[in-house]
Amino acid sequence: MDEALSQAATALSEADSVVALTGAGVSTASGIPDFRSEGGLWEKHDPQSFHFRRFRADPEGFWRDRLSMFEDIYAGGDIAPNDAHHALAELEAAGHLDTLITQNIDGLHREAGTANLIELHGTGAEVVCMDCGERADAAPAWDAVKAGNVPPRCASCDGIVKPAVVLFGESMPEVAMSRAHSLAKSCDVFLIAGSSLTVEPAASLPHVAARHGATTIYVNLDDTGFDADYTFDADVTDVLPRLAAAVRKP
Ligand code: ZN
Repeated sequence: MDEALSQAATALSEADSVVALTGAGVSTASGIPDFRSEGGLWEKHDPQSFHFRRFRADPEGFWRDRLSMFEDIYAGGDIAPNDAHHALAELEAAGHLDTLITQNIDGLHREAGTANLIELHGTGAEVVCMDCGERADAAPAWDAVKAGNVPPRCASCDGIVKPAVVLFGESMPEVAMSRAHSLAKSCDVFLIAGSSLTVEPAASLPHVAARHGATTIYVNLDDTGFDADYTFDADVTDVLPRLAAAVRKP
């Protein structure tokens, strides 16, 4: 692995533009269960409960069920960024990562200090008002839900608020998607971390990058058959810090 690691680090340090794509595998190391894996959250909570249709029909029930799911997620205590999040923030700070595209909604990349972030599925750290469109910090909404005041409401217009994430049945944010696509087309290096590349449209981004000549680096515990230039079939919290260290001292 060391030879490939130092070659991947060289590709990163020589690139003019680097784009990273992260998925659930980066969050699991922080204790956030993978929704899709065996024993994952969707075996315990019905995905249909979190469909946009359900939110519109029954926002009270939606928020109650969401609280129940989040109590499961956070049952282990506080969730903080891990070494993979920190390594990516470090790469950005050192000028070796231009934009980070993530499928995760937990806000941990932002918490770790990554500034240039495209959150394809939105962020659970905010809520959005269904009436006036205002975005706000999610904490007051959660306080209201925990106190039994469901559904939580907008501070400006008293409209019902929704988590600022892309729910099942909602379309992907077009601006974020088109930015992600043009970045994939134009970057020199495309780094994929902790994504099994099974969920569209993020799944096609590495192929777009490769077709347009980018060097691809793939770090994921379960190899899913994406034919990257450099593949590390290992934990992101192991590989990414070593990669960042190798870029620092080539
Ligand atoms: Zn409002």
